[in-house]
Amino acid sequence: MFEYSKRLTYMKSELLDLCTSSVNSQNRFHEFALLLQNYLEQHFHIHHCCFLFYDGEAALKPFYVHSSVQVDYQQMKKIYFNSFLSQQKVVDITDVEQGFPFNHMVFIKESHFDKYGVVFIQSSPEWLTFLQSDFFEDFINCVSKVFYLINEQMEIRQNENQYRKLYNMTDLFHSTMDIDFILENMLITIQENFPNLDVELILSNDQDRQTKLQIKPFDYLSERPTTIQAFVSGEITIEQAFDLNRCLLNAPINGRQAIYGILQVSAPISYVFSNAQKDFIRLLAHTSGNALENAKLYRQSHRLIRDLQLINETSHHLNKLLTLNEMFLFLQKQVMQHFQPMELCFVLKEGNEYKITEATTDFFKTEESTVYIQHVVKHFESSQDSLFIADFSRIVGKEILFKSIMVIPMIVEQRINGFCIVLHHEPYFFSFDSFKLLQSLIHHSSLAIANLVLRNQLQEMVNQDYLTKLYARRYLDRFIERSLENDRSGMFLLIDIDNFKLINDTYGHQVGDDILVQIGNQLNKIIGTSGICARWGGEELAIYIPNISEDEAENIATELLRTIPQATNPTVTISAGLVFWNHEQRPDFHSIFLQADTALYNAKENGKNQVCVFNGSFPSHQ
Ligand code: GH3
Ligand code: MG
Ligand code: MG
Repeated sequence: MFEYSKRLTYMKSELLDLCTSSVNSQNRFHEFALLLQNYLEQHFHIHHCCFLFYDGEAALKPFYVHSSVQVDYQQMKKIYFNSFLSQQKVVDITDVEQGFPFNHMVFIKESHFDKYGVVFIQSSPEWLTFLQSDFFEDFINCVSKVFYLINEQMEIRQNENQYRKLYNMTDLFHSTMDIDFILENMLITIQENFPNLDVELILSNDQDRQTKLQIKPFDYLSERPTTIQAFVSGEITIEQAFDLNRCLLNAPINGRQAIYGILQVSAPISYVFSNAQKDFIRLLAHTSGNALENAKLYRQSHRLIRDLQLINETSHHLNKLLTLNEMFLFLQKQVMQHFQPMELCFVLKEGNEYKITEATTDFFKTEESTVYIQHVVKHFESSQDSLFIADFSRIVGKEILFKSIMVIPMIVEQRINGFCIVLHHEPYFFSFDSFKLLQSLIHHSSLAIANLVLRNQLQEMVNQDYLTKLYARRYLDRFIERSLENDRSGMFLLIDIDNFKLINDTYGHQVGDDILVQIGNQLNKIIGTSGICARWGGEELAIYIPNISEDEAENIATELLRTIPQATNPTVTISAGLVFWNHEQRPDFHSIFLQADTALYNAKENGKNQVCVFNGSFPSHQ
């Protein structure tokens, strides 16, 4: 008895030593098993024993074998699970099977703790005596307690280690917005912690990203149900995939707003993931998910800023341009550069007709483009919505050159002024984001274009005399000024209706007005596009024709003098003063008017219904 007590005290002190020593944590169980085995051998002459470890996940793992005998773990597991319910500390397994080398199984277990060890022992007479003694209970309790303590120590160290890595990784993630870097580090961390397991990244919605990492795109149609379940539920799933002979753990990579994919860890089929491992992987995936989300949001905000800059820069530039043509060409350049379509066209509505502008690629000048234009025009007959088509061949029901299409109408005050079409060979080429951006761009540009159209119309109105529709005096002035600088010659004819007061008095102002209009039309008819006709003021009209010879100038004046009485009803005659100039003697801007006025005065003085040439004779009196 005293003997047992001494041995026990001796073992306790050794166990205490083990607990307090700072041995490498990896070897703690091993040290423990070795100590126990030494003790069993030394005090009870046990030569064969085997230690198994149960980690609370229905798995029994061997961690130490001290035996020269062949060990069959499958059989040991069977025995273990069969006798598990007996709640005994020592189970006699002598009669289990022929040739089985062990005859006792000892549970090393703290009552409240779900992890424990099992020792298979090939017993000895000394051992059998010890089993009967009062000290056995004390022995088991002590060993179990130490096993529990070591286990706890190990777990704390392991956790500490894992969480330190996790912390380092999180720290790293805070300093980066690089998605590749985040994913890469997630993989590295998991591989460092589980060097014997395989890892795969299954990411959704990742088509716009170029990466050197091995990433499997998430595909709802072909993914395993457990993978989909993890993706949808946001919870870890574990599957024993017999077809692959692997055990798969799917951890969702989730941020606060969405689940971005699955981190799939694959182990041999019999592998059991412990709770601690699951917790670690869950945390790792979640941390990565958050970092990924931040990086994505960061990218998104950058893209938004870029988009805003594009819209801002475009509208700003458009407002500086003077012609519609320039505007469309600039827009074409911007769209080509930012959206990279293969073909593009801008169409403008004039009246009820759609006209293809110059800002259009060659394809739209060919017959093949008709199917697109027709589809779009038909669409806009009943709708003002943009079109975003990923595969146009499905709509037309035949193979077609360009599959991706975006069409954006130019709408001002709820009316379609035109539209823009962009095309690409590849189906699904344009992203929804780029569609939204093109919409904003065209929307903002439509305003600038409509403004220019209005400005042009307003300018026309300002330049035009409301009654005769001839050019107004201001426009004539500018025209003559430019011509005097740039042209080689020119004629200016100032016309005054003879006795117009009398017409007004006789027939009324309305008839007088009509005569002014009739004369205006006649002027336009004779001058055509060779020069301009203007209302000088009141009942005085004027024409100016650049780059004309003196003879031609006189012919035109004579022609007007001859035809205006025929073109008016009641008939009127005119008097006119003609000034002709050429590059040998350019009059200055003001003197040309004085000269014409003087000539006109002469014509009136000479008896009206005639043209007088300034500084010269003109045999026009009929
Ligand atoms: P003259 O042969 O010397 O030019 O005689 P005139 O009667 O034409 O005399 P004057 O040129 O001095 O008179 C111009 C008249 O033209 C006065 C005005 O009533 C009339 N008039 C000016 N503007 C208009 C207009 O817009 N409509 C009409 N109906 N009459 C106008
Ligand atoms: Mg007059
Ligand atoms: Mg007059």
